Amino acid sequence: MKTFKMIMLLVLAAGLQQCSYSQQNPAADKKTKMDSTKTNNPYYSKADSAEVNVPDAEWQKILPKDVYYVARQKGTERPGTSAFEHSKEIGTYYCAVCGNALFKSDTKFESGCGWPSFYEPISKASIIYTPDNTHGMRRTEVQCGKCKSHLGHVFDDGPPPTGLRYCINGVILDFEKAKDAAKKYDKE
Ligand SMILES: [Zn+2]
Repeated sequence: MKTFKMIMLLVLAAGLQQCSYSQQNPAADKKTKMDSTKTNNPYYSKADSAEVNVPDAEWQKILPKDVYYVARQKGTERPGTSAFEHSKEIGTYYCAVCGNALFKSDTKFESGCGWPSFYEPISKASIIYTPDNTHGMRRTEVQCGKCKSHLGHVFDDGPPPTGLRYCINGVILDFEKAKDAAKKYDKE
């Protein structure tokens, strides 16, 4: 009986610790996830721009569940859940699956749609466009030009100069702060 009580106490203590940890560090989980996306992923490279053709079964072993769901199953993250949505940091957004450069922060804008939004990709090779008529809508899906991961959709109600709104799942983005902007932001 004593042993049982001890075990129950340990379980309770562990539970409490987990609660306070996630309350104090809301970004901690995300950070670990983003890092593991890269460290366990032999296909991630910012330097190599060659096409990446990896079967979904392999991606499923490598990617965190939420990234796999969006990238390979064309899922959508819940609106308003990405820390990137309102981020104004200066730098470059890469594909979190393969390291392909996708968007620069100066083409990012507040769309109010619930997902990080951009009006222009870095280059034509950044993105693949595919008509998407699912869910009773006529939309254009955008995929990573290097690994074909699902990123989100593009709409024609964006701001100038392109008039486009690239509505992107934050979980699929990997942000790198510009080096010359680092000092300015560290002070804040
Ligand atoms: Zn990619």
